[in-house]
Amino acid sequence: MRVSRLNATQDPTVQAGVNVRGSMSEEPVHILGAGLSGLAAATYLAKAGREVHVHEIRNDSGARFDGDFQGIENWTSSESDFFDEMRDWGLDPEEFKSNDFDIIDLIHPDDEITNPITDGVAFRVVERGTDSHCIDQGFKRMATAAGATIHYGTRRPPEDCHIVAAGPKESSAVAFGEIFHTDHPNHVSFQLNDKLAPGAYSYLIIIDGIGLICTCLWRKQKRTSRYLNETIAWYEQHYELNRRPIKRVGGKGDFSLPDRYVHEGRYYVGEAGGLQDFMWGFGMRYAITSGVFAAKAILGESDYEAEVRKRLVPLVRASAINRFLMNRVGDRGFKLVANHWMRNQRRKGDGLVFMRWLYAPGPLRLMLWPIVRAGMLRRKQLKDGRMVRRMPFRSSLSRDSWEPSPRAEEIGSQWEAIRKGGGSISFGDGDA
Ligand SMILES: Cc1cc2nc3c(=O)[nH]c(=O)nc-3n(C[C@H](O)[C@H](O)[C@H](O)COP(=O)(O)OP(=O)(O)OC[C@H]3O[C@@H](n4cnc5c(N)ncnc54)[C@H](O)[C@@H]3O)c2cc1C
Repeated sequence: MRVSRLNATQDPTVQAGVNVRGSMSEEPVHILGAGLSGLAAATYLAKAGREVHVHEIRNDSGARFDGDFQGIENWTSSESDFFDEMRDWGLDPEEFKSNDFDIIDLIHPDDEITNPITDGVAFRVVERGTDSHCIDQGFKRMATAAGATIHYGTRRPPEDCHIVAAGPKESSAVAFGEIFHTDHPNHVSFQLNDKLAPGAYSYLIIIDGIGLICTCLWRKQKRTSRYLNETIAWYEQHYELNRRPIKRVGGKGDFSLPDRYVHEGRYYVGEAGGLQDFMWGFGMRYAITSGVFAAKAILGESDYEAEVRKRLVPLVRASAINRFLMNRVGDRGFKLVANHWMRNQRRKGDGLVFMRWLYAPGPLRLMLWPIVRAGMLRRKQLKDGRMVRRMPFRSSLSRDSWEPSPRAEEIGSQWEAIRKGGGSISFGDGDA
């Protein structure tokens, strides 16, 4: 099956290779990838009565992840709560488990802990994976209930699909985490620390007796697990965790801005379309939103390229500019950011105001865009002919070499013993 394509010169309703009036109206829609973006698109289209087929290379939705917790941010739109937006699109947030948070421990690079707090919902923690309460399974249920057919364990060329929702391809950054049993109550900590998480951050999430400690590396390292061991040692020292390790997880993020979002009649959504947060990797909201935008475009309700450029690209660019600035500062810069956040909260009476400002594509910040584009991103032609500007995985710095602490060594050996006894690891040193 080849996706039928009209030549723009043959049909005036076709723009940039895509029929904006929905000439495919009777054709089945084929989607590559049953992740959040693909399933959001599938649900919207199937609810509108279209025949939808989703082709997924893995055996289930969420299998790319392995029970790790992720946060859905609620700060990139000050007008609406993201779950209300989802409801407006016919997506039901009650289909999966989520926990609202209005407060976090913000851990400064010098180990000071402060508390950004808001009146509403700052973010929600969801679980990624194949268990029935995971967000991926909730989206799968919504898509199948709407009438979409999902073909698991199948390979299909992207050129045979209308929507490409196949997630990241390359690594610009990686995250490593450990999942464990704990007695600690529900909690989220976010730590800015250039030693434990080079160029990035680490976090602790605890939901209903299960904890995740994760460190993100925005500079490529050898033996990456030593960063996780040291990060775990840090959290153990500062929180009463009574940690009993279960498994180690992780994944990569691909930060690439394409020059267009519709290419040869195909809609690129989620991370496959470069719709990801360059600063801290909060990509789920962009994935779901872009999936819905693509579905609307196929139904002739909107123009995907225009909608993405208006609603999402400014946010992605602002995050890339923030990332550029973060790449230039170490712990001293992180400390300034943390202090500024708390000063802002004292002045405005709400910790989320700073996050909204940080992610806002204001004109002053966007003025830096040409410098960021030239200084941080590298042009690359992808196999499918798209041109992207990619953020390469940066090299390590001399300050990334340090001697592990004795407790981190013990944690590493403890994990080795668990691994040899059958402890699962879905992302390891070799995957970075
Ligand atoms: C460790 C980690 C932590 C993260 N934490 C957060 C967080 O806290 N908050 C947040 O918002 N975001 C977070 N993200 C990012 C977020 O997970 C992604 O941005 C989001 O899942 C992207 O959705 P997607 O639909 O584009 O891709 P995915 O959800 O990954 O779905 C892509 C699907 O396509 C399938 N696929 C791939 N290739 C093919 C192929 N050739 N054919 C068929 N199917 C294919 C994959 O198996 C997968 O199921 C994190 C990412 C990682 C790795």
